[in-house]
Amino acid sequence: MRLDADILVVGGGVIGLMAASYAARSGKKVTLLEQHFPGTQEGSSAGHKRMWRTMYNEAELSKMSYLAGDLYHELEAETGSKILHRKGLLNFGAQTDYTPEGTLLAPIDTLNELGKPYELLDKKEIERRYPFRNLPDHYVGIFQPDNAITDVKAAIATALSLCRRDAVAIASGARVIRIANNREHVTAHLDNGEKVTARKAILAPGAYANELMSPSFGFSLNLNMWDMSSAFYRVNGNVQDFPMWVQFERPENGYSNLFYGYPPCEFGQPGFMQLGVVWASHQFTDVSQRVYAPPRIDLQIVRDFVRNRMKGVDTAPVDATRALAVLLPDNGCILDVLPSSVADNRNVVVCTGGWAFKFAPLFGKLCAQLALEHELCTDIKSLSIERPGRIAAASIDVDLTKYQMAAAE
Ligand SMILES: Cc1cc2nc3c(=O)[nH]c(=O)nc-3n(C[C@H](O)[C@H](O)[C@H](O)COP(=O)(O)OP(=O)(O)OC[C@H]3O[C@@H](n4cnc5c(N)ncnc54)[C@H](O)[C@@H]3O)c2cc1C
Repeated sequence: MRLDADILVVGGGVIGLMAASYAARSGKKVTLLEQHFPGTQEGSSAGHKRMWRTMYNEAELSKMSYLAGDLYHELEAETGSKILHRKGLLNFGAQTDYTPEGTLLAPIDTLNELGKPYELLDKKEIERRYPFRNLPDHYVGIFQPDNAITDVKAAIATALSLCRRDAVAIASGARVIRIANNREHVTAHLDNGEKVTARKAILAPGAYANELMSPSFGFSLNLNMWDMSSAFYRVNGNVQDFPMWVQFERPENGYSNLFYGYPPCEFGQPGFMQLGVVWASHQFTDVSQRVYAPPRIDLQIVRDFVRNRMKGVDTAPVDATRALAVLLPDNGCILDVLPSSVADNRNVVVCTGGWAFKFAPLFGKLCAQLALEHELCTDIKSLSIERPGRIAAASIDVDLTKYQMAAAE
């Protein structure tokens, strides 16, 4: 049977584009199907900035981040684009249980193990150097100088240009409703009745993964998703140049209490700080339950943080944005072939979940290596689809009333 392609990629977010471009480098015929258009704002790769950060509780994730950073730099050298803009990262706050961002202090062991530079700061020093105030006395900070702000648009444009260079056939408006898989090939069935056949498939559908998994393979992944909103604030004080930052705290009043921010930089609303909370009042397990607009309460929590904890920053935002976050119960990512219970499982590679923009070139390369049956450039056990808790659905219980009561007092 004549196949349409050697490798079929579903999803034109950053991971799918990177996977397609790495697969096409080897001279294979690659087709990418995207239900909207590559780099759409409907997926998780929306917006302008992502943290390329390396402070992880788990040493293997830090190592992957550094490996991905090297690949980003290779892509920059190859194409002349600028994707990673070096900027330090300040993690500060209190020691907490495990959060979607890990914990404050555990990454110190990882940094020591990897021999990476960092600096420990007390509350006074954090407030002296950076635009924060009213921090509790027990707060501490870890500053790591060698992290970066990722230019999302530049990363997508770079992957797209490499796809074009290596003749990847990209179809926009091509929604796959089911994948059929047998020993010889995979077939993608589109919602317009068309079919695309290939020897192997790479599925990088982000939050939409279960719309494909259930009808195609009879299982669901345990995904929790939300539209994560953030807002832009003008920096009006003396401290214009400060690191990216994450504040760790125990959950409070029903929300995560994990705040993060980017300093002003030359792309994505230049001159404004972008600030958000790693949480949302509306969380769901099925992407069809999405409401898009940032709920007022999510933005209010961030505004309260600016009023209470920041200095040299306007207290009213000028703009807000949102993007679709999709998390697994352990806040990790999946990059693997289908579970071994599925027949001919090695024909289909799946990559979804987590805070994966920083890993995009590495994950793209690994997806291509898995599909092409090449040796993997790093171990992917920690990304296994079969690790406990990955498969099956869970319900999310968000106690909003507590926050509303606190705000009313
Ligand atoms: C607000 C926010 C902040 C984040 N911050 C960070 C950060 O600081 N650092 C970091 O490393 N990561 C961060 N992340 C995570 C990171 O953005 C994502 O992990 C990454 O963008 C995922 O890319 P993707 O290609 O897997 O998914 P997506 O970008 O969602 O792409 C999936 C694509 O597949 C398409 N698709 C799905 N199903 C089908 C189908 N059936 N047929 C055809 N096409 C289909 C979709 O339309 C979509 O375009 C953040 C995410 C959010 C939302």
